[in-house]
Order: sequence, then C-alpha cells, then structure tokens
Amino acid sequence: MSTTGIIFSPIYYQHNPGRGHPESARRLHAIVSELKKNKLRGVGNWQFFKPEKAGLEDVELVHDREYIEFIENTCSLGGGILDVEGDTVASRKSFEVALYAVGGTLKAVNMIMKGRIRNAFALVRPPGHHAGKYRACGFCFFNNVAVAAKHLLKIFKLKKILILDIDAHHGNGTQEIFYDTNEVLYMSLHEDPRGFPGKGFTGEVGEREGLGYNVNVPLPFQTTDEVYLKAINEIVKPIVRQYKPQFILVSAGLDAHYRDPVGNLCVSALCYQEVYETVVSLASEVCEGKHALVLEGGYSLGSIGKIAVAAIAKMSAVQYIVADNIPETKERVRRQGESVIEVVKQVQKDFWNI
Ligand SMILES: [Zn+2]
Repeated sequence: MSTTGIIFSPIYYQHNPGRGHPESARRLHAIVSELKKNKLRGVGNWQFFKPEKAGLEDVELVHDREYIEFIENTCSLGGGILDVEGDTVASRKSFEVALYAVGGTLKAVNMIMKGRIRNAFALVRPPGHHAGKYRACGFCFFNNVAVAAKHLLKIFKLKKILILDIDAHHGNGTQEIFYDTNEVLYMSLHEDPRGFPGKGFTGEVGEREGLGYNVNVPLPFQTTDEVYLKAINEIVKPIVRQYKPQFILVSAGLDAHYRDPVGNLCVSALCYQEVYETVVSLASEVCEGKHALVLEGGYSLGSIGKIAVAAIAKMSAVQYIVADNIPETKERVRRQGESVIEVVKQVQKDFWNI
C-alpha cells in the first residue's frame, strides 16, 4: 500500500489537435522521460499502471449525452474544432483517447479507495477542467476530475470531496458543474481571468447548497512564489482543515511556471514542490493520505518534466533535487497579489474561519 500509482499509456499520444498546438503529445513525452531518467527509489516508490477506457455511463455522470455524441461524431468524420474560440480541436482518435483520460482518472481513484496504492498521478490528456456539461473549452473535452468526483460520491458514497485546482487558468467547467453542491469544495488559484476564461472572480462563491463551497483566488499576471505560497498558506490550508474532505483531487496544471508559453503566472518549480508537499501533508492530516493528481495544462517542454517528477517524489516520499531559479517579485505585482488575498479572505469569512 506504499506505492504511488502513475496512470499512463501511450494511447494518450494519439490525440492530435494539430501542428503547432501547445497541447501536444510531446508534453506527456517530456514528463515520462524525466520520470524514467530519475529512477526514484526510497521509502514509498512509484509504479506505472495502465488506464482502462471509461464507459459512456461514467462520462454521463457529468456530461450530456448529446454533447458526448457530438464529440464522437466529429471524431468519426476525421476531427475538427469543438469550441467557439477555435482552441479545442479533435482528431480522429480524440474521442477514444478522451475516454481513456476519464478512465485513467477513475482508475487512480478506484485504486486508492481500494487501498491498492497510497496516492496517484494520472498523466492523462486531453485535459479536462475547462469542459462543462455541454461544451468543450480550452483544449478540454471531458472533465476528468469532475467525473472522478461524481464517481466518488456515487460509487464510494463519499460526502465531502475537495478539488484543488492549481492550473494557471481557472477551471470554469469544474466550477460550473459543482456550483450548487456542498459535497464538492472547489478551490482554485489562477491568473487574472478577465481575458480567459472569463470566470473565476472572488465573488463567485457558489449558490444554494453550494454557497460557500467555491473559492477563487485570481492572482495578477506575473505572480511569483512568495504571493502564491501566501495564498496557499492563508487561504487553502485553513479552509481544507475546516472542510475535512474525505478525498483530495488536484487539477494538476503545470502552466503557472515562469517559462510556460501559455500561462501568465511566474512561479518556480520550487514553489510547485512546496505546494505538492502541502497537499501530501494536508491529505495525511484530513483523509488518510487519499489524494490523486490529474494532469491539466503545462506547456513548457523544458520544465514540466521536473515539476511533475517533483510532485511524484513528494507523493512517494523520496528525494528529488529540483534546481530552478526563483523569479524576482515586482513590487506592483506583490501589492496587487496581497490585496487579492485580502479580498478573498473578506469574502470567504462569511463561510470559513480565516
Ligand atoms: Zn491552464
């Protein structure tokens, strides 16, 4: 039971959104080669597991049947653009690969719940957190994390799940899916969402049963380690300790790194390492260590390997030396970031003791 499971299959290379698209198969290749290069050995250890293909009934836990058929039909005709922005592009194999992305995420949570592994990182693509019930968005087809959360509620009868979204972009799909429930607490740290995706502001706090179970921390562009970690320490930690989730799902985007060509935050791999350490320790504090990371974005081919391996090293309690620069904080960005953190605390004080 001491293993960290890495869910991966070369099938994930077969989704191809086209030449020059940042969400390419090379991303996973970069992560897997860094992992193989660093044979992490120590207390916990890690092991690869193959995903299974999700059934339509799994995907329908979140998505509308018509939407699923729209993706299937588009792919059977050879592929095409799925969203109005023109960012989310399917190839012939994408539907099947997207079913494996959902299936890989389900495999991670099932194995953890059955005690076969301690925790997991599902290295899947296409990513999921922008996908809503009825629509593709931001390179995402099916919302892998959302399906896993619904599955934990339905099959394992859990009542409290945390989704922590540390992708550089707000997970508008995930927020929308769980906006009116207290069974899933959605917390997201992300870049100023005015440009994209247009959701993720501090005042979006959930509705009806879900009021108070949605926490957005929209950080200014170029936010660096110091302010990012302040948000983790002063907002994420206290709220997680009060909510006491039974399972932690992490929308593990790697695109907040300063080298990322798509994200606009500016944190280092060392910051990521500290965030992963926090997740591991919060999980052991509140839910017997049960947590799964699920890959979302992350496009800097030179950096995402070491960021993902830093996560796996923390999860399996082995040594991995991360070398990276820590970008300097601009005074203006620091002031803006600190004021965002204050606003979030004021807003969330109605629901949490922070
Ligand atoms: Zn992103």
